[in-house]
Amino acid sequence: MEIHLNGFHDGNPEIYPPAGEDKLYSPEMPDELDVLIVGSGPAGLNLAAQLSQFPEIKTRIAERKDGPMLRGQADGVSCRSMEMFNAFGFVEKAAKEGHWVNETCFWQPDPENPENPEQIVRAGRVQDVEDDLSEMPHIILNQARVHDFYLEVMRNSPTRLDVDYQYQLQILEIDTGESAYPVTATFAHQGQTKTVRAKYVVGCDGARSAVRTAIGRELKGDYAYQSWGVMDILMTTDFPDIRHKNIIKSAAAGNILIIPREGGHLVRLYVELDKLSERGGSKGVSLEHIIDTASRIFSPYQIDVKEVAWWSVYEIGHSLTDKFDDVPATDINHRLPHVFIAGDACHTHSAKAGQGMNVSMGDSFNLGWKLISVLTGRCPPELLHSYSAERQAVAQDLIDFDHEWSRAMSKPPEDSDDTTPLIQKHFVAGGEFTAGLRVTYPPSSITSSSDWQHLATGQPVGNRFHSAPVIRLSDARPMQLGDTIKIDTRWHIYAFAGSGDPAATDSGIYKLCTFLANDKNSPVLKHTPEGADIDSVISVYGIFQQSHQALDFEAM
Ligand code: FAD
Repeated sequence: MEIHLNGFHDGNPEIYPPAGEDKLYSPEMPDELDVLIVGSGPAGLNLAAQLSQFPEIKTRIAERKDGPMLRGQADGVSCRSMEMFNAFGFVEKAAKEGHWVNETCFWQPDPENPENPEQIVRAGRVQDVEDDLSEMPHIILNQARVHDFYLEVMRNSPTRLDVDYQYQLQILEIDTGESAYPVTATFAHQGQTKTVRAKYVVGCDGARSAVRTAIGRELKGDYAYQSWGVMDILMTTDFPDIRHKNIIKSAAAGNILIIPREGGHLVRLYVELDKLSERGGSKGVSLEHIIDTASRIFSPYQIDVKEVAWWSVYEIGHSLTDKFDDVPATDINHRLPHVFIAGDACHTHSAKAGQGMNVSMGDSFNLGWKLISVLTGRCPPELLHSYSAERQAVAQDLIDFDHEWSRAMSKPPEDSDDTTPLIQKHFVAGGEFTAGLRVTYPPSSITSSSDWQHLATGQPVGNRFHSAPVIRLSDARPMQLGDTIKIDTRWHIYAFAGSGDPAATDSGIYKLCTFLANDKNSPVLKHTPEGADIDSVISVYGIFQQSHQALDFEAM
């Protein structure tokens, strides 16, 4: 947030001055839009919160439900999602409210007590996030609160964007001709029909996505015939690690994943239930059955469930669509995408790797800046092809990872002389993936090849920018480099200077800055519109090896 950049505004700096009347959200759904988002889950809200910052882009987000989510569903927030929350400006709130996952414990039958295989013991304990993977913690927070944070960003934005509830998408038609508003969406709204034309439609409408069906794409995958119960409960117990994340593998009663929840009391249990002989076979499973199964797995420890805040039963399946937009692979060179899908609309998998909400938000974070850049004229519309190309590959990696993880979770505890549980080894090996940090985009119009990788080995080409602690020269403030990234769709140049005097005219950083400031080929000069701030499109940061007091600030 750039406080007082363009004049002094009193009051809460998180609330932007409103844009002009015609750009503000109003309860009446317009007939024509730049971007129509369908679905207000984490994918849809993440996208809406980005677009809401740009009054010149007419955006609406339609949702079939009556109001915002209050409880349940996902709760794992990966380090990468926290980095993203930092860009939105609400990471401190999430970190304050959330439960920090610092260690994960592994429990299994006691090898010293083979006569009583139903008695579990702690077999391992590991640090949850490896050192220096991210400046952010891995936290647990109710999905509904994550939604609330996005809604706050939207409502405080210059457009005061809000969700249009009770709009159920029924029909979506695409005109592949030259129309300015090529997509027509028809909604059922309070007993009436409402038709909206849009330049772009993004289906963030979950696993049964109507938008996906309309563009002729299918979720294809496999089915594990395994049911799991999940419940958010308040209970008393003598299980010592109840405020840790745990994986318990019992000898014969099944497995449990324990996720301590925000606030210090609530806990979520994912409880492995029965193998199924047919799809949908878990219908009718009762809460009592889940609690009974959990009690057996916890033996010899006792659990006494006092209150159940939310519970659900689900069956494991893995599925994926082949493309995340409306352009057939054969037409990429002569057709531009106008309809996209994101989140569960594109990929479904088990909940236990904690990736559903994270990867869904990652999808629409990727699409958001591209739509903004195209609609504000900064990038050509061909850029939009890269969304499906990049995110479909990420989803495929997720499905592969989750297959492996689900199999490891459901395997009975192994009989081996190795004292480290196999599941612990799997967990450690997958740490970077579950933190959301193993995404590498391949070379494309926006990602270079690795020809120059040797110049910055700590920043792998195609990965997210790895933050580091720095001291800001202008005011000696300790901060993270990652704090410079906001949801403003700017490009950033981070120049890591050599060890010599940066003010010396023959230093690399001096030459680079001279080129950027003066040369007719400077990307900064080329892409900054006349009259705009010099850092409004590309901002440049220098990172120096010396301490801030050793640098000659005036000379620089
Ligand atoms: P969703 O969150 O599914 O949001 C889609 C939105 O689109 C919904 O609000 C829906 O009402 C709306 N919508 C759908 N169709 C239309 C339409 N035609 N018109 C208008 N609006 C429409 N993950 C975990 O990690 N742990 C869990 O325990 C867990 N439990 C879950 C329980 C349930 C019941 C569900 C549905 C999901 C659960 N998940 C869980 C998965 C996790 O919540 C999802 O991965 C995540 O929410 C995906 O986000 P999304 O925005 O893509 O889709």
